[in-house]
Amino acid sequence: MKNVILALTRIVQDVALVESPTDQVTLIVDSISQVIGVDVCSLYRINQDNEMVLLASHGLDSIENVKLPAGKGLVGLVAQSRHAINIADAASHPDYFYIEQTHEEQFRSFCGVPLVHFGDVIGVLVVQSKQAQPLSDENEAFLVTLASQLALIVANIPNTGKPASSINLRSEGIKGAPGIGIGTAQLCDSGNLNDVPDQACDDPVAEIKQWHDLLASVKRDIKAEQAALGSELSDSVSGIFDAYQMLLSDQALIDRVEAEINAGHWLPSALRFSISYFAELFRAMEDPYLKARHEDIQHLGNKLFNAWQGDHPNQLECLPTGPIILVGTQVSVSDIAAVPTSQLAGIVCFEGARLSHTAIVANAIGIPTVMGVGILKGLQSGEQLIVDGNEGQVITHPSKAVLAEFKQLVSKEQSFLHQLDSLRDQPAITKDGTRVRLMTNTGLLADISPGLKSGAEGIGLYRTEIPFIVRDSFPTEEEQVQVYRKVFAAYQNKPVYMRTLDIGGDKQLPYFPIMSEENPALGWRGIRFTLDNIQLLMTQVRAMIRAADGKSNLHILLPMVSSTNELDVFTQLLDDACNQLQSEGFTLDRPKVGIMVEVPAAISQLPFWRNKIDFVSIGSNDLSQYLLAMDRNNAQVAGAYDHVHPAVLHEIYRIVTIANQHSLSLSLCGEMASDPVAVMLLLGMGIRSLSMSSATLPRIKWLIRSLDTVEAKTFLEQALSIDNVETIRQLGNETLCSLGLSELIN
Ligand code: PEP
Ligand code: MG
Repeated sequence: MKNVILALTRIVQDVALVESPTDQVTLIVDSISQVIGVDVCSLYRINQDNEMVLLASHGLDSIENVKLPAGKGLVGLVAQSRHAINIADAASHPDYFYIEQTHEEQFRSFCGVPLVHFGDVIGVLVVQSKQAQPLSDENEAFLVTLASQLALIVANIPNTGKPASSINLRSEGIKGAPGIGIGTAQLCDSGNLNDVPDQACDDPVAEIKQWHDLLASVKRDIKAEQAALGSELSDSVSGIFDAYQMLLSDQALIDRVEAEINAGHWLPSALRFSISYFAELFRAMEDPYLKARHEDIQHLGNKLFNAWQGDHPNQLECLPTGPIILVGTQVSVSDIAAVPTSQLAGIVCFEGARLSHTAIVANAIGIPTVMGVGILKGLQSGEQLIVDGNEGQVITHPSKAVLAEFKQLVSKEQSFLHQLDSLRDQPAITKDGTRVRLMTNTGLLADISPGLKSGAEGIGLYRTEIPFIVRDSFPTEEEQVQVYRKVFAAYQNKPVYMRTLDIGGDKQLPYFPIMSEENPALGWRGIRFTLDNIQLLMTQVRAMIRAADGKSNLHILLPMVSSTNELDVFTQLLDDACNQLQSEGFTLDRPKVGIMVEVPAAISQLPFWRNKIDFVSIGSNDLSQYLLAMDRNNAQVAGAYDHVHPAVLHEIYRIVTIANQHSLSLSLCGEMASDPVAVMLLLGMGIRSLSMSSATLPRIKWLIRSLDTVEAKTFLEQALSIDNVETIRQLGNETLCSLGLSELIN
């Protein structure tokens, strides 16, 4: 048996190094014919008319403009039948279709395998030989395996095989912040710590001193930048600078760099190793929110490195006039701060995700942003660019016609945003007078002010993981009190739902390694982890109660609850915590306690728990994941993971019915609360409290104020009688259109 993995890896790696699609397809067919030892290897790609276009061939002559009509020939048969066809004598097959131009009559055998991408046949890979003998079973299996992997590459190759036109080049990324921006590119080329070469250090004492001087000077720089921002940018940006200051003061970072220097590295490589260690800790996490924090650490590393180099790349000198689009691997908060907001039209990051700090800030200040777009090869500062944060796309070298089209969209969008702005201080109330409470989800101190600015009526979900992860040991009770106090100070008399530590599985604490698990999502996480480490839970609960300082707005939210015992043990712990604090002289108000309904097992137990809990918050992200048995972070199944799936809707409706029957206060804090189609269904079910990201809150408020509960109920009734998610989505979009809310269609 050939080493499939080795051959495959080599082909895939070689192809990735080649830029032009023409060269890529040529490399594929040449490599395969060599590995299998056949006379011909050809690659066909399906076009819009279902014709099979011959993109490349090793062995066939004159392949220019060769295409097979839809369904024709053995190639068409492979595509239609969706399985390999392996025959000794092609010409004797009834489906044989002779193409004179290629002189293929000299090749007798034929083996074709389909290239399938996300369920669709996108091409056919064919090998042929002069000898009239079928391909060996071993080679056929090899080809099938290769084809399944090659489909990923071929899917990205245009079906002409030629490089796309350089006009209107469209690159797809991730939606970072909504809106459309048109402007000139300004590349943010900050020094990259990852490129620092290794070098030994002769004098660790002097190097460590330099490290401390560097820390002090960068802290001063950050303070100065923060002050320079003044009131021009929102508080959220300042909050992120606070987070940078916190990281710079973190003993874990300071110690690690010192240790690397003592191990013999000069300061830049000590910094590189340490920053990459902490960045990787975050990158490996399952939770997309925490995962995205690795970029903050990278930003900070580059900032330290730039300061060490003595230059100041974040000061964008000689800014061009007119609208600017910042473009870079990771556009930092300092880059954003260096451009007047009135001039900043957009942000494009080659890396990063929806929950990156860059995206959080961009949302807060309303700058269209696309993340994770990959390197825009050849783009220069000063070139015109369109950033479409609504669709998550970037268009370079736009033509006049495309520009005119996007300008029209911008002016339409501006009047829409103006409309939303005017709603900020208005209540979320339906046309028939039903009041809905809109709160925000947060987890970083930096996210607090955007929530308040968007008109949030409280924090519906405070994810407490961050203070635990950015350290080298468990935060003490006192340290947690300091963090939580800032949250209560910002949200004074508004409700704050603080979730106990939802750690475990892939969300590992660097100082508390959890053994690796086969199925982390089904393993030791959430309350299962904290009850097994009850000392952590006790400290956290004490810190929350102390931070609330006797006020009644603290609500403790328990993640991943699935059994009565978990609730009983927690109640006992809460009693103990209250008694302890009282006897220590603290004023307190016993917090209300509720659970996230995210493990399906919790649903049918709610009636038993009605006297044990004060409220319920539906965690629709995990609930959908567990009901559909689909990993919420897995791109392979992302297309099918949808929280308006009939199974999810019926279960949520069941939760609402049970909560009503037992007078349990109910809210929902998953991504469903940010999705207009889902929100209409939730309102139809009777849910009157939602928590979402601050960026989406104004849109959801607009939806609620434009809707009648009768309309929501009608849509719900229809949706509950439908057995597939596609029709529900379509109906939802039609409903939005009929309400004049087509801007809200995702
Ligand atoms: C959820 O599961 O819906 C939820 C809000 O919690 P998280 O996304 O933090 O798991
Ligand atoms: Mg969850």
